[in-house]
Amino acid sequence: MRSRSGVLLAFATAAAAFAPAQLQQPRLSSATAPALLPARPLAATRPLVATRPARHAQPAMFLGVRKALISVPVLYVLMSLNEYATHRWYQHEEFNRNHAFNRFFQRLLSVLKNRPMRLPDGRANLVKLKGGGHHHAETYDDMSLKKDKRWRQTKANSPRDSGVCWAAAASLDSDIARGTAFSWAVTGMMTVQMLPSALPVFALLGFGLLETLAVLLPGMLVHALVWNMLHPPMHGLPPVKLKYGAPSWPLEGLRDTAYFKYIYENHQGHHVLGGQANYNVCCPLTDHLLGTYVPTATWVKRMRKVPGPEGERWGIPVEPKGVPQAPIIAAGKATERDFTPTALLNAPEPA
Ligand SMILES: [Zn+2]
Ligand SMILES: [Zn+2]
Repeated sequence: MRSRSGVLLAFATAAAAFAPAQLQQPRLSSATAPALLPARPLAATRPLVATRPARHAQPAMFLGVRKALISVPVLYVLMSLNEYATHRWYQHEEFNRNHAFNRFFQRLLSVLKNRPMRLPDGRANLVKLKGGGHHHAETYDDMSLKKDKRWRQTKANSPRDSGVCWAAAASLDSDIARGTAFSWAVTGMMTVQMLPSALPVFALLGFGLLETLAVLLPGMLVHALVWNMLHPPMHGLPPVKLKYGAPSWPLEGLRDTAYFKYIYENHQGHHVLGGQANYNVCCPLTDHLLGTYVPTATWVKRMRKVPGPEGERWGIPVEPKGVPQAPIIAAGKATERDFTPTALLNAPEPA
């Protein structure tokens, strides 16, 4: 319920942002004091006139043109950074590797909580986050999700299984969208997660709290609408309904536009490359800045063959026209390996 009201608040704030500011009531006065007028019927007296009507004839915007224009690119950059960081370092648990950022937290916890820097066997005592559910392990390179019982009986037992990428199939069964959609709760959490960056950045640009929320809340709603239109159907799952999260239907008519084709292929490459590139989904930018963007022409050569109809799937992917198609294994030729987890085979070795 709380998340629903959050969405209502988003709509209300968005509407307020672009609604006319309250017009100043014109001060009405009769041109002449009634007592000085000759006696005649009221209708015949001179009409009441507004003393200063002209300057307020045009509605004023809550945000003003300058702020409205600057808010869009600024919010886009913040959302791109946030989407990237969440996906790469939290969902794919790359935070849990031995890099300077993790070592910073190792030292911090060592000082604050006397946490040992080394494990008994001498390895670094990494600080570990448990990432959210993710759907990589069960994704074929045609983007459909394996439902095959050979896969579903597989324990995620690769030496690199520690990541959520290898979440066993059963752990996704409790979610109708199998971890591919933003529920209202997730949209709310992501909105809160944006606050530590959005509030100070917009404050520096001169935005008040309400003005910032008037930009942020609709922005997060659009982000969820884009994700929920693109992502569950691209993995062959049904469109998202309003009672679950931002619905898929409002943007379905845009599926074949250049933007949706670009982000579809970008995310397809993310899966083909074992979730180790193209971390942005709806807001491409940060991959380009950090050198993790891999173009379609490169990853398309790495697409693995997928089983034909004998490999059972949750559904057929819904895709924009013209996106790359995975080669199909001839009938009867698929091996056990083709039905079981292969999601990280294309990934570079961990550092
Ligand atoms: Zn995906
Ligand atoms: Zn991923």
